[in-house]
Amino acid sequence: MSTDRTTADRTTTADASEAAAQEVELLRRLRAFEGRPAATAGRGKDPVNAPMIRHWCEAMGDTNPAYTGPDAIAPPTMLQAWTMGGLSGHTGHTGRSPAYDELLALLDGAGCTSVVATDCEQEYLRPLRPGDEVTFDAVIESVSPRKTTRLGTGHFVTTRMDVRANGEPAGTHRFRILKYAPAAKRPAPPKPAGTAGPQRPRPVVNRDNQGFWDGVRDHRLLIQRCTACATLRFPWLPGCNACSSPDWDTVEASGAGTVFSYVVMHHPPFPAFDPPYAVALVELAEGVRMISNITGVPYDKVRIGLPVRLEFLRVDDTLELPVFRAEAG
Ligand code: ZN
Repeated sequence: MSTDRTTADRTTTADASEAAAQEVELLRRLRAFEGRPAATAGRGKDPVNAPMIRHWCEAMGDTNPAYTGPDAIAPPTMLQAWTMGGLSGHTGHTGRSPAYDELLALLDGAGCTSVVATDCEQEYLRPLRPGDEVTFDAVIESVSPRKTTRLGTGHFVTTRMDVRANGEPAGTHRFRILKYAPAAKRPAPPKPAGTAGPQRPRPVVNRDNQGFWDGVRDHRLLIQRCTACATLRFPWLPGCNACSSPDWDTVEASGAGTVFSYVVMHHPPFPAFDPPYAVALVELAEGVRMISNITGVPYDKVRIGLPVRLEFLRVDDTLELPVFRAEAG
């Protein structure tokens, strides 16, 4: 018996040390890419120009006067936009160097077949103005050791792009991705006794939104109101976006509203939901908006402007939700 156990222990230890050695070797190969080019001698497809600045500002809702008029500069956060190839991509020699693709292929080979962009950082060295010609180079700055995230286990890859305007340094753009092996699907949780199918997800109730769910329990839809500036807010938050005051009370929604916007969910399917169904952004009579389901009409009859009225839907023994019923007529 003891011999068997010792053999098993030894095998496990050998497997573990082999896996560790493979990991060290992989990291060594990944790190060898640090400092290699990700893009070389890139050139912006268009010079910095007013129409792209205008579209950006409209999309962002940015009305800063610095971005219009004869002395306009480009919004600094557009830095990367001037380097992008657009739908048709970059042509000719411009753009991605083979090292970046080789790095991604190495990670693919190590099982990290999925990718997600995680964040970017920018530094601004000089404003960009209409007419500036943009050129850039990018380098693979770092590859992280193996990290485990909710998505799965993998490596963060950071590239740094140096952007120039008419040959002068204009800024840097660091872009980070996670190349990872998707986490194995967790086994479905056991069905609670007495329920026929999968349950709808439970709301996350915390100290910031406890009052909202207390209201739902009492069939009252409560909107937070800042007691300093009277601004209403929804969803519930610990402070006022208008004046930063942490003090608030509540007002009860009348229950009247209209569909401000909506989507029809077809895919992906979630347990406990039966697609297609409409998910609406409802504008309450009080002015705040909330996301909910529309009841009383088929999903394809939901329309922007549809008048709706609050009701409470008993989902199961432990869940009741505010939803909105289409008003007749
Ligand atoms: Zn306020």
